[in-house]
Amino acid sequence: MTCHCGKPAISERNLCAEHFTDWFEQSVHETIAEYNMIAQGDHVLVAASGGKDSLTLLKILSKKYKTTAVCIDEGIAGYREHSIADLEKFCTAHNIPLVIRSYLQEKGTRLDSMDLKHPCSQCGVWRRELLADSAKEYDVIATGHNLDDEAQTIMLNIMKHHAMKPRPVLPGIPGFARKIKPLYFIAEADVRRYAFIHKLVSSFVECPNAAQAHRRAVQHFLENRERDHPGAKEKLVRQYLAAL
Ligand code: SF4
Repeated sequence: MTCHCGKPAISERNLCAEHFTDWFEQSVHETIAEYNMIAQGDHVLVAASGGKDSLTLLKILSKKYKTTAVCIDEGIAGYREHSIADLEKFCTAHNIPLVIRSYLQEKGTRLDSMDLKHPCSQCGVWRRELLADSAKEYDVIATGHNLDDEAQTIMLNIMKHHAMKPRPVLPGIPGFARKIKPLYFIAEADVRRYAFIHKLVSSFVECPNAAQAHRRAVQHFLENRERDHPGAKEKLVRQYLAAL
């Protein structure tokens, strides 16, 4: 496979690394424009874990907008310290202010000291709380949720009868930042490819608790669907948005 420029293609889209990067960044900016996610002069807070999604988002947004990163350190040994190291390296190299808040400092305990049966439930509540608090002084808070994350959330919400509706943008109300997801229509495999091309992460370490999250079963189901019916995840997300 070769790209239209003649160089070896690195993706099923038949694009070389350079043209894949152009396509990827343009797709993200089109989503930002389509949903009016960021206005002129907005200060964007990027919720950054230091993983592939948030570093990809930070790289793209920081080239065009005034950007600050916030990282929540849950206190998960063998996991978070790796991604924080990548995040600190990236922010230092690109001169991006970085705020790190931890459960240990703010809640008095590390997550892995709590011996919880379902750590993700507590983790999610505290993370949302700290991010909402951090976003108070910004116009927008951006998260690195990608197409796969959104397809999984839609499925989980249907299965659990949750009323919450994941969307590309949640309008802010006075005192609260607008919540945006610029990677909403980008498949996880493409985010991984972009992060790999640009050497954004030193390793793709996953949280040890992720394996027991309900999300994992849904992820496998959607991956099987995608393998048998390419484009199934995007179709699910777009039909869901049209139904909203
Ligand atoms: Fe927290 Fe669960 Fe995510 Fe790990 S997988 S960071 S415990 S929500």
